[in-house]
Amino acid sequence: MAELKYRFNPDTLNFERIRVSGVQKLKRTVLALLPGLLLGILGIFLAFQWIDSPKEASLKRENQQLAVQYELVNKRLADIESVLNDLQRRDDNIYRVIFEADPIPANVRQAGIGGVNRYKDLDGYASSDLVIATRRRLDRLAKQLYVQSVSLDEVANLALRKQELLASIPSIQPIPNEKTKVSSGFGERLHPILKIIKMHEGLDFTAPVGTEVHATGDGRVTFADYSTSGFGVHVIIDHGFGYETLYGHLQQVKVRPGQRVKRGDLIGLSGNTGLSAAPHLHYEVHRSQTPVDPVNYLFNSLTPDEYARTIEQSRSVSQSFD
Ligand SMILES: [Zn+2]
Repeated sequence: MAELKYRFNPDTLNFERIRVSGVQKLKRTVLALLPGLLLGILGIFLAFQWIDSPKEASLKRENQQLAVQYELVNKRLADIESVLNDLQRRDDNIYRVIFEADPIPANVRQAGIGGVNRYKDLDGYASSDLVIATRRRLDRLAKQLYVQSVSLDEVANLALRKQELLASIPSIQPIPNEKTKVSSGFGERLHPILKIIKMHEGLDFTAPVGTEVHATGDGRVTFADYSTSGFGVHVIIDHGFGYETLYGHLQQVKVRPGQRVKRGDLIGLSGNTGLSAAPHLHYEVHRSQTPVDPVNYLFNSLTPDEYARTIEQSRSVSQSFD
């Protein structure tokens, strides 16, 4: 029940009832509560300066956890960097050396991430330094890994080709040592039939007609027939990598053009066809279409002594059998 208020009127000497409007009542109520309200807000404000709200406390814990995780990630990154450094060192000093590739320059391997500040969006936070340093480290690592993987692809490719090259390169004597001796070497020699000093672009191996002649490296037969060039019946093998071999004055061919041969395969029988003064095999090695001294391509089939003797024989004779 509302409280009734009265005021004394000196004129009428009566207590008169005071009538209060609703608005006035509201005003009074608000005025009465205001100091308490302000005091309350001030109190809460001050309290939050010193005490975290539950949400803040939870976020703080989360932040601490994240910082610890970042530290752990950095430790793992250091491990990975050390493994990668070791791999790079072995790549430059072993793998690439074996396959005759140049080392990768340090500035390519260690190249920084250039351009504008790509970590701008990470600036301005309490943990910005830690987060930016980690991101930068990760970016650098990703780039180094890419360079390394490209290098290993290149080395793998070279390794595959190297096996092929080693199998293809002419490196045995076309007639086994026990069945022949070198009668004339590479260089200017007196031509046995033309009787002029002429460049002799191969090695002559003396051998009875019908001696087996072998391919000196893997390759593909490009010619196996008689020709009027002076070589008579002869075989030419393309070994790839710029190498070709020629086997001249044969009695008979045992291969056909287009056929693939392996080192040591029988390709023909030696003879005395074409411009030849006596039964022998004329053997040439071409590198990039230029005749080179075949004596440098016999190393696989001879002992060091036999090799020394072969070189001696190839140098001493002044007339070729052609
Ligand atoms: Zn010859």
